[in-house]
Amino acid sequence: MLKDRVAIVTGSSSGIGRVIARELARRGARLVLLSNESIRILEALEEIRHLSPDSEAYEADVSSRPCVTEAVNLTLERFGRVDILVNNAGITRDNLVMRMKEEEWQRVMEVNLHSVFRLTQMVLRPMMKARYGRIIHITSVVGHTGNAGQGNYVAAKAGLEGFAKSVALEVASRNITVNCVAPGFIRTAMTDKLNSKAREAILARIPLGVAGEPEDVAHAVAFLASAEARYITGETIHVNGGMYMG
Ligand code: NAD
Repeated sequence: MLKDRVAIVTGSSSGIGRVIARELARRGARLVLLSNESIRILEALEEIRHLSPDSEAYEADVSSRPCVTEAVNLTLERFGRVDILVNNAGITRDNLVMRMKEEEWQRVMEVNLHSVFRLTQMVLRPMMKARYGRIIHITSVVGHTGNAGQGNYVAAKAGLEGFAKSVALEVASRNITVNCVAPGFIRTAMTDKLNSKAREAILARIPLGVAGEPEDVAHAVAFLASAEARYITGETIHVNGGMYMG
């Protein structure tokens, strides 16, 4: 149970983040939803409040330091603590490296990697004071395998795993754990963008034979956030149907 724990989940207005927020709420956590989608985040909040009435949503672009600072400050004013941070917001700007524009590289780094550094840094102080914290980054199988056409995305996701290990070492003595969940091929808006040929090619590489659901990722996150995972830090849980075995 996560009763009364305060959990920030980024990118929680849709896709995997929304389902993670729902799962943590179902287990008793109070949720702070963060997203750049103004209308959908309110829809998500309405849904979450049925499970956990004491929850909030703040519209924020995670790549903007002022937006994130304001959202974390509002969370601390409202709840006085942050127990769980799930860094889930992520984007793709696919291109072959030969053709990749500086802007495509920068934007993916800002949203998928730099934002995680800032948010993690901001919650560490209250977590260290409370001598409790669970930080979970959503990475990707491609951070381990590489993927043609996704040099920017892969670099950001692989970077997150190294970052998680470093922070895990820095804060372990304060009872704060830092881990990653690396999804494989999960059915969301991000993967709906793929054409049917690309989708078939990926499915053929999955031993369990089907795409994953956002719930499969959410269950791994909820486990890492729970008391049962207290002795796990600096790790990555792969949720990929056997597509890659680390
Ligand atoms: P999605 O596109 O369905 O949802 C992404 C969420 O992030 C949305 O709520 C969006 O509003 C939010 N977001 C995007 N940019 C933002 C910004 N600048 N500020 C705040 N919020 C922002 O994607 P998804 O498939 O649910 O992916 C969620 C995470 O899982 C991502 O980090 C993604 O890289 C990772 N992932 C997904 C898959 C998959 O198969 N879907 C596989 C591996 C990893």
